[in-house]
Amino acid sequence: PPCVQVVNYAPFTLLPSAVPEALFEQAYAVQQDFNLLVDAISQNKEFLEQTLASTIKVDDFTAQLFRIYMQVLEEGLAQTVFLGINRSDYMFDCGVDGTTALRQIEINTIAASFGGLTSRTADVHGLVLKVLGKTKEASRLLPNNPSKGLAWGIAKAWELYGSQSAVVMFLVEEVQRNIFDQRCVEIELWKRNIRVIRRRFRDVFEKGSLDGSRRLYIDGQEVAVVYYREGYVPQTYNQQNWQARLLLERSRAVKCPDIATQLAGTKKVQQELSRPGTLEKLLPGHPEAVARVRATFAGLYSLDEGEEGDKIAATAIADPERFVLKPQREGGGNNLYGEELRQVLEKIKDSPERTSYILMDKIKPQPALNYLLRAHSPLQVSECISELGIFGVYVRQGQKMVLNKAAGHLLRTKAIEHADGGVAAGVAVLDTPYLV
Ligand code: ADP
Ligand code: MG
Repeated sequence: PPCVQVVNYAPFTLLPSAVPEALFEQAYAVQQDFNLLVDAISQNKEFLEQTLASTIKVDDFTAQLFRIYMQVLEEGLAQTVFLGINRSDYMFDCGVDGTTALRQIEINTIAASFGGLTSRTADVHGLVLKVLGKTKEASRLLPNNPSKGLAWGIAKAWELYGSQSAVVMFLVEEVQRNIFDQRCVEIELWKRNIRVIRRRFRDVFEKGSLDGSRRLYIDGQEVAVVYYREGYVPQTYNQQNWQARLLLERSRAVKCPDIATQLAGTKKVQQELSRPGTLEKLLPGHPEAVARVRATFAGLYSLDEGEEGDKIAATAIADPERFVLKPQREGGGNNLYGEELRQVLEKIKDSPERTSYILMDKIKPQPALNYLLRAHSPLQVSECISELGIFGVYVRQGQKMVLNKAAGHLLRTKAIEHADGGVAAGVAVLDTPYLV
């Protein structure tokens, strides 16, 4: 096929957006707890099995991931070092009394992006503020460098894998739309004299192999860490790519994330976490972490077959503006709102298909005016809302956590007329928090 390359600047807001300082700090303070939680879920087969049992009956993609998960467990894990890079996303819910509360939207446990590009946005916004004569305000913007933090985690995992000549492999998309974001992390690794290669699933299928102790090789190079920036949507996978995924999961290489951690990031798991008692079971002996995590939860509801699901489905059909309907998908643009939510739920309310969704309370932030700058789009002022993401990084060796950190933040802002969609979906743009 012809090679077409188009380079555009990443979209961004003209001005930084106000973020309540207390909520910003709360989001940072809970990140290590979320790292612990995700890691605990990924090691809890019983919990994953029970939680996803109803989902995998109706959702083929989750079912296929789950099959690989079970197959790898049955064979016995060759991997002994575990690396998690996640991003927990929040909105600031505005109550009727004008108070704001931090509410988690979701946690991304695979291919959480924009840690690279956002390491540059504070400088951009600082410059804009100076041009506007707001030098004092410019100096208040916080430094932020997730690409360093993410690279630190990858480097630690690489080191613990323990083979000087082994490489880090970024598993990238067929059509690479966000390469510069990834390059920021890659460059940090080269600075530490760690070799990085970029490969697609098809390359792994064609050239990947395991040796007798399940070390992963590609093009003659041993791979210490596989960093997935792809693999979270069904469209990625044909039969060959599923085989490639299985090969990677069976290997000794550190997968970021391993398939269990990817499953820990499903919407269904998120919903089950909000059930009374679940967090306590997953994090025994950590009552304070449990309280911090729970304080960020919005209302989440199961649509499994049975009385509980029937009841909440009826409530949502009667008052769709209160909720968001979410399938087990990532990447933006999949959720249903308002009238569309009502129609879909009406149609599937008596079928098992209902089980492939969850319901969530709709968060209603206070909009603010800003300009969204996007290549080839006219400039206009929009009413906007923001979503704050905190990057988490952790490394576990056997049963021992050797690194557990918050690695920086990401603020994405979009016009209120878009209910859904991230930066990659062309809806949100990069922003910088201005703490108030
Ligand atoms: P995805 O995995 O597709 O990113 P999300 O759960 O993050 O799924 O939802 C995508 C977008 O939809 C979010 O970035 C946010 O803008 C919007 N959204 C999701 N959940 C809610 C909610 N409970 N209230 C308001 N908006 C939401
Ligand atoms: Mg999201």
